[in-house]
Amino acid sequence: MRIRADRDVCIGAGNCVLAAENVFDQDDDAIVVVLQETPDGADAEAARNAVGSCPSGALSIEET
Ligand code: SF4
Repeated sequence: MRIRADRDVCIGAGNCVLAAENVFDQDDDAIVVVLQETPDGADAEAARNAVGSCPSGALSIEET
């Protein structure tokens, strides 16, 4: 899997960081930063939950 984040769409809600703190962070403007584009194991599972919890649709998963 590969995580995609559209920083122009992100509204800075922070759900992704709460769901997967090893995979996502937020910059000083609260916009998402992807820490791991290709997470494995528990981080991958957390990342899927994060993508599902994003209210803006900024996050997506490309299956590789
Ligand atoms: S959950 Fe979505 S809108 Fe919120 S910070 Fe993460 S990417 Fe941005």
